[in-house]
Amino acid sequence: MDKYEVLKVLGEGSFGRALLVQHKLSDQKYAMKEIRLPVSSSDVETSRKEAILLAKMKHPNVVAYKESFEADGHLYIVMEYCDDGDLMQKIKDQRGKLFPEDTILCWFVQMCLGVKHIHDKRVLHRDIKSKNVFLTQNGKVKLGDFGSARLLAHPVSYACTYVGTPYYVPPEIWENMPYNNKSDIWSLGCILYELCTLRHPFQANSWKHLILKVCKGSYNPLPSHYSYELHYLIKQMFKRNPKNRPSATTILARGCLTKLIKNCFPSEVQFQVTEEFKQELKETRKCRGTAIRPKAQAVVFYCRKVQRNLT
Ligand code: ADP
Ligand code: MG
Repeated sequence: MDKYEVLKVLGEGSFGRALLVQHKLSDQKYAMKEIRLPVSSSDVETSRKEAILLAKMKHPNVVAYKESFEADGHLYIVMEYCDDGDLMQKIKDQRGKLFPEDTILCWFVQMCLGVKHIHDKRVLHRDIKSKNVFLTQNGKVKLGDFGSARLLAHPVSYACTYVGTPYYVPPEIWENMPYNNKSDIWSLGCILYELCTLRHPFQANSWKHLILKVCKGSYNPLPSHYSYELHYLIKQMFKRNPKNRPSATTILARGCLTKLIKNCFPSEVQFQVTEEFKQELKETRKCRGTAIRPKAQAVVFYCRKVQRNLT
């Protein structure tokens, strides 16, 4: 901790605080999450998971991990500082003025690249929402807050606890069904919808009505001036059956997005996406007809920050 000087508090949550710090030797600024360590040793392990999982990620669209350490009953996670706030704030700042489609697609493609990276590493984020997507002043979008993330033992296995934010929770979770990477895709669809309308797709003033809307998959259509492509993407990402939702790789292979990647992102990303998409197609053909059997039948559902997010 002595290596860093605290400049200000970035945010406070149930876990502790997020601080803006400066490395004394290099003058480099970082974001530092200060997490109070619980008393029980198994809960301490859960807290450590955030640092362990973030450390595994290395991608321009995922917040970069620098180091972590423990001191005075706290876990400190040092990571890259995103100096232009979060997507939720950007949406609020619009005060009702819709974003141009180019801006939406440029942010969305970067979120998809980040999500694809974590899913390729068999990590589920489980709390994808506009408040956990951070921005930098040079226009980069980064997926952050791995506090709810989990590693899957096998690519098609299902994690059986869920920690999320109600507006972004997919129907399978409310229906006590197992879920996998496609649950993250639903939440990503919620962000895409928010970017197009500045509203949540599924909104209600009671739990009951929110759940009913999500489970029916009923949402107001996008403003008509947005392209067929955006309408189509939303429709696919909000398929009630998770198996019918596209993966991040499939989304990125859509013509308009590959074009965008080609124009705005380094050639290695483009190469990686194309090669991996070919591989995924091969695997899909091999697996066609084999039903995926859920491993976990009981889903223990636990929602944090529920009160805050429903008010
Ligand atoms: P939680 O949502 O569990 O409280 P987060 O990791 O989302 O924890 O951090 C809380 C807040 O701190 C974020 O909403 C954001 O405002 C700020 N923050 C966290 N990490 C960063 C970062 N790397 N760069 C800039 N701000 C950050
Ligand atoms: Mg957060």
